[in-house]
Order: sequence, then C-alpha cells, then structure tokens
Amino acid sequence: MKDQRVDIVGGGLAGLIAAVELARKGTRVAVFETANEFGGRARTRDLDGFLFNRGPHALYCNGALKRTLDRLGIAYTGGRNLSRARQAIIKGRLHSLPTTLGSIVTTSLLGLGDKVSFTRAFKAIMDGATRAGSFADWLDGEELSPMVRSLVEALARLSSYANGSGHISARVLLDQIRITAGGTIYVDGGWASLVKGLVEAARAAGVELNLNAAVDRVTRTTDGLQLVLGNGESRSSEAVILAVAPHEAATLAGDITSLIDEVRESRAVRANTLDLALRGLPPGAHDFALGIDEPFYLSVHTGSAKLAPVDGAIVHIAKYLPIGEAPAKNATEELEAIADLVMPGWREREVTRQTLRGMVVSHSLPRWDRPRASVCVPGAFGLFVAGDWVGEEGMIADAAAASGVQAAQSAFEWLSRGRTPGRAHS
Ligand SMILES: Cc1cc2nc3c(=O)[nH]c(=O)nc-3n(C[C@H](O)[C@H](O)[C@H](O)COP(=O)(O)OP(=O)(O)OC[C@H]3O[C@@H](n4cnc5c(N)ncnc54)[C@H](O)[C@@H]3O)c2cc1C
Repeated sequence: MKDQRVDIVGGGLAGLIAAVELARKGTRVAVFETANEFGGRARTRDLDGFLFNRGPHALYCNGALKRTLDRLGIAYTGGRNLSRARQAIIKGRLHSLPTTLGSIVTTSLLGLGDKVSFTRAFKAIMDGATRAGSFADWLDGEELSPMVRSLVEALARLSSYANGSGHISARVLLDQIRITAGGTIYVDGGWASLVKGLVEAARAAGVELNLNAAVDRVTRTTDGLQLVLGNGESRSSEAVILAVAPHEAATLAGDITSLIDEVRESRAVRANTLDLALRGLPPGAHDFALGIDEPFYLSVHTGSAKLAPVDGAIVHIAKYLPIGEAPAKNATEELEAIADLVMPGWREREVTRQTLRGMVVSHSLPRWDRPRASVCVPGAFGLFVAGDWVGEEGMIADAAAASGVQAAQSAFEWLSRGRTPGRAHS
C-alpha cells in the first residue's frame, strides 16, 4: 500500500479531510489545489483586522463536519451567544421570532390558533417527523395555515440555505432542521481556523500539499489513472479523488456519463451576501433577524466569535435565492435595506464590506426524486468524488465532510483489494 498513491484534486474541506483520513491509514497522498491557499469556500479574508468568512458560516454541533474534526483531533474555539431576542421580519416589520416555548407564547407574529399549530408542527419535527417526497409534500400533509407554513419554511431556509421546498427531500431537510436545532458554533478566527488545523494535520501525516497546482484532466490508462497538471506535467496514480464542483469533475474526467448526468441534474443552492465590518453596533440594534415572507437573514457573529478588533462587529446579511434564480440587479440594495430595518445607524459605522452575489452555498441540494452522486464513480475504477454534492449524509459543509471521509474509505478499500472493483463502482 505504501508505494501506491492517492491523488486528490481540490483542497477545500472535502479534499483536506479525505487527505488526512488516507494519510493516517498509511497511504501516500498528494493534494492539488489550484488557488494560492487551501480552504475553497471555507476560506476567511482578513480586511483591516476584520475576518470575513465567505458569507455567514455556522458549524453545526450535531453535524458530520464537527464530528469529523473532533475525531481527527482538529482543535478550534468559538461560541454561540446571541445577546438579544431574535427577530422575525414580516411585511417589513420586526416581531419576536418564536424559537422557544416562551417566545411562541409572547410573539406578536402568530394568533392563538397559529401558536398551537406551530407548536404542534415544531414538536412533530423534533420528535423525528420524516417522509418520502419533497419538503413541500410534508408541509401539505401538515395542513398548516399560510403564516405557520411560512414560518416553518423560514426555519428550513435558516437550517439549510435551500429556498425550494418542492425540490428538496423532506427526509433530509427535516433531519437538517433537527441538526441545526442541536446548536451551532461560530468559529474564532473564521473557518480558516478549521482549514489551518486540517492542513497542519495533513502535513504532519506526510501529505504532499501543492498550491497553485491546477489539474487539467484525469485520463484512464491500461495501468491506472493519469493526472495531467495545468503546467503540462503528468503523473500516474492508483486512485484519484475529485473534491471539486460537479461541472469541474465532469470536465476533468472527460467522457464519464454519470458525471455529465450529475451536472445536468444538480440544483445549486445559492445566496447573495453582504458582510459588513462595523465600528461597533449602533444603539438598539438587533443581532439576529430572519425573514418570514421574504428569504432574508441577518446575524452578528462577533457576539460569539473572535472575528474583529475590540468593539468591532461583523454582520452577515444574506438572501437565500430561490433554486434556479439569478441575483437581481439590486441585490446589494436589498440586503442594505434589511440592515436599515434591523440595525438603523449602521451606515455611519461601516469600516469595510464584502459582497458575494449568487454565491454557491452547495453544488447540489438533496432532491427527493433522485439520489445524490455516490463517492464511487460508476464505471470509472479508481476514481472517486467528494464535496457538498456527494453522498447520502448531511447538507452543505456536513455533506462535504461526510463524503470526504467516505471517498477516503472507498479509495483505501480499492487499494486494499488490489485495485479490483467493488459493487459500488459498477
Ligand atoms: C455564503 C455561504 C454560506 C455558507 N454557510 C455555511 C454554513 O453556515 N454551514 C455549513 O456547514 N456550510 C456552509 N457553507 C457551505 C460550505 O462553505 C461548503 O459546503 C464547503 O466549504 C464546501 O467544501 P468542498 O471541499 O466541497 O468544496 P470547495 O470549498 O468549493 O473546494 C473545492 C476546491 O477545489 C479547487 N479546485 C477546483 N478545480 C480545481 C482544479 N482543476 N485543480 C485543482 N483544484 C481545483 C477549488 O479551488 C477549491 O479550493 C456556506 C457556503 C457559502 C458560499
């Protein structure tokens, strides 16, 4: 095994996790990342001492990413400490967001009948509600009033970023709401801290780490696989994990039908985000708000995590784009208007900002009518994929982590079997 190598294309969370897993099993591993730093969408930018993730990033306490980082011994710190009552936005006005029994009783958002109905729906989810079909089918079956339905859909968007109840699997989304209800952590130093921990673990385990190393294509030879790099160099390898987007995987691997199908069928989850660095929050500002009749989100992450100089604040505002919808021309103005509502006076305190339009949060939401791609690419022996569009478990970064682990395990088994195909590859 020691003389056999697994090459991993892509140094985001999925690729790095796969690399650490394999190297710790004693396999030779190399990672090729086209950018000049590792992390992909989990990178963090430092602007004037303010640390910007690529939009709001929460680590789910009960999700596959945290479980994997903890098992691999990757250390990080952070917290979750919203100081004020959470707000719901409806018809351009703020109300208290019902997330606990106490806030359900007091919210001005719901009448008495809706309070009972929402409590029943919330309890059903927490008790393990599930069903085949789409999340919209599940909502239809619950016979909720329009207001309660909007509220449950807003909580679903908050948990998954996905704005498309008719597309998404009810089973996966209901699981995701339960995972999110288990708590989230905002990470000190941003998600770059997680990436740094993984890179250090990979280095310590002997992984060959290559930056500014684009891979051009992966070809099949009689002897195995060949990686052709952007600089024209090529090398043969016994197994390759493509930890990149589906369209990148399809382009790299050339003529593989299952990957081409995946590109055609994938439904990307996208968001517009406005990330603000402020010289402190204006007096009376709220630190969390969720749109109920419109798909908006605002949250102050510096109440929980070290992301800014003393007294500075990082505020994330996002719009969950409907599946298939492109960002509107006024995308930034829409997000600024949410900030005006939730924290008036912010404009005088702005230090700097980051805007992302139509950013891919997840390359493929889990559909109800089609399984997500398997880590083993059918018919392509020795070729594996990983990322937030792959595998059965979890959503967004949890899916990236879970598929990274699975791809590493499948590649390891492929090598251990002397490179004979298992059932999953056929
Ligand atoms: C606005 C926003 C908010 C989010 N919020 C959350 C959240 O709150 N919680 C959560 O769990 N997740 C969240 N996510 C999702 C999370 O960031 C991603 O799911 C995760 O980082 C994806 O990791 P990955 O390794 O699958 O892909 P990527 O991070 O995209 O990594 C792929 C890597 O492959 C490299 N690459 C591509 N082509 C090549 C090539 N030919 N050769 C070499 N390298 C190549 C790329 O440069 C990149 O570094 C959010 C994402 C966004 C955009």
